[in-house]
Amino acid sequence: METNPAFTGARCTACDATVDGDDVAGRCPSCGGVLDAAYELDAVDLEPTTLAARTTRSQWRYHELLPFSPEAAVTTMEGGTPLVPVPSLAEELGVAAVYVKDEGRNPTGTIDDRGQSVAVTAAKRAGASDVALASTGDDGQSAAAYASRAGLDSHTFVPSRATFTNKAMVNVHGGDMSVVEGRIDAAASAFADAVAEHDEWHPVQALSTPYPHEGLKTAYVEIAEALDWETPDRVIHPTGRGAGLHAFRKAARELDALGLASGTPKLYAAQAEGCAPIVRAFEEGREAYEPWDAPDTICGRIEIPDPAGGNLALDAIRETGGGAVAAPDPETLEGATSLAGTAGLELSASSGTAVAAAYALAERGELDADDTLVLVNAGAGSKDDDVLRSHLMSKGI
Ligand SMILES: [Zn+2]
Repeated sequence: METNPAFTGARCTACDATVDGDDVAGRCPSCGGVLDAAYELDAVDLEPTTLAARTTRSQWRYHELLPFSPEAAVTTMEGGTPLVPVPSLAEELGVAAVYVKDEGRNPTGTIDDRGQSVAVTAAKRAGASDVALASTGDDGQSAAAYASRAGLDSHTFVPSRATFTNKAMVNVHGGDMSVVEGRIDAAASAFADAVAEHDEWHPVQALSTPYPHEGLKTAYVEIAEALDWETPDRVIHPTGRGAGLHAFRKAARELDALGLASGTPKLYAAQAEGCAPIVRAFEEGREAYEPWDAPDTICGRIEIPDPAGGNLALDAIRETGGGAVAAPDPETLEGATSLAGTAGLELSASSGTAVAAAYALAERGELDADDTLVLVNAGAGSKDDDVLRSHLMSKGI
């Protein structure tokens, strides 16, 4: 069997329409909204002991909460990343515990490997010959890797500012790449033009189908399992498109429904001050974000002026009682390099926003002394080595 028997299809996050069947793809046929994979969770019996007995560390150990069976999965053993305690930071912030969920240790160095594994599995099952996406870099590299694993062609559109590592590794995986002059909106527009001419291209971009964000969910399930099924108090996620926050809320709800871990953590978006449409909407109390006019941040990975999951992220933040913080670039880089220099951890430049946000929340008095705080490192620091080192050089080091 190729699918999870509890997987029933999808539900629209905007209009609540349901789409039945295990071959659902794309956006909502009624309103164009983002689709979420849906499950008959009443039919799922999943105990901590069952999971503990499984030997694989890959994300497919949670196949009851994924659409497809592990046998059908296109996987390079993504997932199983550590939740690393950082007691020195906990002491500085005045909280009980701080952990970094280190997603940089995935096969291509990004949390997106989880999503691309599920998305490329879906594409392969659907008989696709090609997958395609516009990307700030990391998910493009990841898509090229998983497409090669599945024997599919990949087409990645990246802005010229994407990192050298991302661009080089798309090529190394044998992917077709278009480097578009400008920023992500230019790459997205070139991608949209190309997709219109290629019916055979199967989109795998976050939130364009139910599958990429379904994979991101497993990062939260691992956090809960690592904490012995205790729900952490707060999770801070570096945020561009908003898919991660939406996925973490979905994961927490599903664990709650299964009786594995109760409630949801307070979810926080950490954005770059130079491109913070979700933070601005949160602070102004608006229901929907407005696109950011002139994005300008060193954090290329999360520089998304018009985020497809912006309103879903706002929902997730508000529903869980979390928040949103915009971090100036120097504080972001200081956050990433300080954890490298004091805790041995390699955070991506963009994930430094989560560290900067934690300090900001502590200064505002929004953290409690008994808090367990999780910071998500969405990507490997070594992909941003030049940016991180130049921050030290700017300080005369
Ligand atoms: Zn809809």
